[in-house]
Amino acid sequence: MKVTIGNGGFVERLEVFGSDLTVVNAARVSFDKESLVMDPRDEKLVSYLAKHGHNSPFFHPQVRFRIRMPIFVAREWFRHTVGFARNEVSRRYVDDEPENWIPTVLRARDANKKQGSKEEPIANNSERVEQIQKYMKDTVTFYNLLLADGVAPEIARAILPQAMYTEFIETASLAAYARLCGLRLDPHAQAEIREFAGAVSAAMSEAFPVSWRALMGTEAVPAAVAAAIPLTVTTEVVTNVKTAASPSEFFTADFTAPTAPSVPTAHTPDT
Ligand SMILES: Cc1cc2nc3c(=O)[nH]c(=O)nc-3n(C[C@H](O)[C@H](O)[C@H](O)COP(=O)(O)OP(=O)(O)OC[C@H]3O[C@@H](n4cnc5c(N)ncnc54)[C@H](O)[C@@H]3O)c2cc1C
Repeated sequence: MKVTIGNGGFVERLEVFGSDLTVVNAARVSFDKESLVMDPRDEKLVSYLAKHGHNSPFFHPQVRFRIRMPIFVAREWFRHTVGFARNEVSRRYVDDEPENWIPTVLRARDANKKQGSKEEPIANNSERVEQIQKYMKDTVTFYNLLLADGVAPEIARAILPQAMYTEFIETASLAAYARLCGLRLDPHAQAEIREFAGAVSAAMSEAFPVSWRALMGTEAVPAAVAAAIPLTVTTEVVTNVKTAASPSEFFTADFTAPTAPSVPTAHTPDT
C-alpha cells in the first residue's frame, strides 16, 4: 500500500508484523489462554485495553514504512521517539538531484499564533508560488554548481532548503503509531504533517482494524481531517528516479544566486 502526498512525498507500508490477534493473545497470556480467531469477546477485550490504558499488548505488533517527506515535516515527525526505529538517507554520501516540496496554497498567517495559519491563501498567492518554484530550482542549480566545484556533498547540502524531501525507513509498534497519529491528526497540528499521519493511519486501520478503532476512537481518520486530505492511493512500485545532470551542464548552467523575495521570516513554533 502506497499513498502519494504533495509533489514528491509518499507513505509506503512495507511490512506488517502481527494482527489484532497478537494484541489479544499478548493480553490473554496472563491467564494462560489463547484465541485462534477474533470473536466478539476478543474485540471487547481490545476496547477494554485501549480504554483503560493497558498499553503493553499494543507494543507487540510492528509495522515498517518507507516515508518521503519534506525536512520541515520530518523535523516534527522525528520528535516522536519512543517505540520508533529509523534510518534515513544521508546527504553526506548521496548527491542525487534534490527534490523540493512546492506549496500551491500559501496559507495566510492567523492572528491566533497557536493556530499557525488560516485556511485562506494570501492575496498574491499565484505570484509568490511562482517565485518559490524559481527559488527552489535555483537552490538545486547552486547545489549542483558546488558539487561541480568539488565541494563535498556533506558541505554542499548546507545550502538546501527545509522544503527538500528526505526519505527514511521507520519501524514502530502499534502503540507508538497510535500516539503519533493521535497528536498529529489533531486540527492543531500543521496541515502538512496531518497528511502524512492520515496516510499512516489509513495503513494501520487496514492492518489492525479492531485495535486501531479502539486506540483512535470510532473513526481511524476523523472525518474532518480525512476531508481535508487529498490522498492519492496508488499501487505503484517505488522506483527512485535519479536524474543525474551531466558535469557539462553544471559548468554551463546560467546560475543566478537565489534572491529570496522579501517576505517576513516564517514563525514555526513546532520544531
Ligand atoms: C501540535 C504540536 C505542537 C508542538 N509544538 C512544539 C514546540 O513548539 N516546540 C517543541 O519543542 N515541540 C513541540 N511539539 C513536540 C512535542 O513537544 C513532542 O516532542 C512530540 O509531540 C512528541 O511527543 P511524544 O509524547 O510522542 O514523544 P516521545 O518522545 O515519543 O515519548 C512518548 C511518551 O514516552 C514518555 N516519555 C518520553 N520521554 C520521557 C522522559 N524523558 N521522561 C518521562 N517520560 C518520557 C512520555 O509519556 C511520552 O509522551 C509539538 C507537538 C505537537 C503535536
